[in-house]
Amino acid sequence: MPKLIAANWKMYKTLAEAETTARELAATLASRIPAGREVLVCPVFVHLPALARTLQGADIRLGAQDLYPAKEGAFTGEVAPRQLLDVGCTYALVGHSERRHVLGESDAFVAQKTAFGLGEGLQIILCIGETLDERRAGQLETVLARQITSAVARIPQDGAARLTIAYEPVWAIGTGEVATLEDIHAAHAVVRRLLAESLGEAGRSVRILYGGSVKPDNAGAILGLDNVDGVLVGGASLEASSFSKIVLA
Ligand code: PEP
Repeated sequence: MPKLIAANWKMYKTLAEAETTARELAATLASRIPAGREVLVCPVFVHLPALARTLQGADIRLGAQDLYPAKEGAFTGEVAPRQLLDVGCTYALVGHSERRHVLGESDAFVAQKTAFGLGEGLQIILCIGETLDERRAGQLETVLARQITSAVARIPQDGAARLTIAYEPVWAIGTGEVATLEDIHAAHAVVRRLLAESLGEAGRSVRILYGGSVKPDNAGAILGLDNVDGVLVGGASLEASSFSKIVLA
C-alpha cells in the first residue's frame, strides 16, 4: 500500500484560494510524487466539485472532511456518501478530533459513519486519539481500544480494504506540539495490535497515519517509523509549498 499524505484544510479558504492552492500543488507535484506515495486533499464540502475539476489530470485524490450515515433523506445540512462519490470524492475523514470534541460526536456515531461510508464504497480515514488528560492518566491504550473496536466491529466484510486509521493525539493537533518519535512509534504499535486483534489478517494491511503538527522538517522522520503509513496534515497543508515538501519528504 502506498503511504498516504493527506491534507485537511478544515474550514479554511475561499473558493478562489482553494483553487489557487490546488493548482499550485498540482503544478509543484506534477511528475514528482514519489512511487509509493499517494496524495489527498480534503477541502470543505462546498469546494469539492470545483476542486474535482481543478485537479483533473493531477495525481491527487479528493476527500471530504465528514459524511452523514444515510443514503438520502431529511437530514438538513448533512451530506451523504453517494453525493460525495458523485462529485469526485474517493475518501472521507470520520471522527476527526474537532468533530468529537468541539461538536460532541460519540464513538457510536463515528462507528455508524465509518461502517456506512465503507459500505457505500468510500475510503474512510477514521481519526482516533487521546486527550492530554487521558494520556496523563495512563489511558492511552484504553481510549484507542474503545475508539477502534467500536468502529471496526460494525464494518462490512470487505470494508477493511478501504479503511485507514489516523492516530492523532488531541493535544498535538493545531498546537505546534508534536508527539516524540518514541510516542508515535509506541502508539502506532498499539494501534496495529488492536487492528490485528479486531480484524485478523486484514488488520495488518490497514494503513495507520500520524497526525498532529506534522511539518516539512519533521515529516521525513515520522514517515520513516514502523507502522507509520502516512500523515494527516492540517496547518502545514494550507500552503502548497509546505505541503508539497511533506509529500516529497
Ligand atoms: C489535523 O487537522 O488533522 C491536524 C493534524 O492538524 P495540524 O497538522 O494543524 O496539527
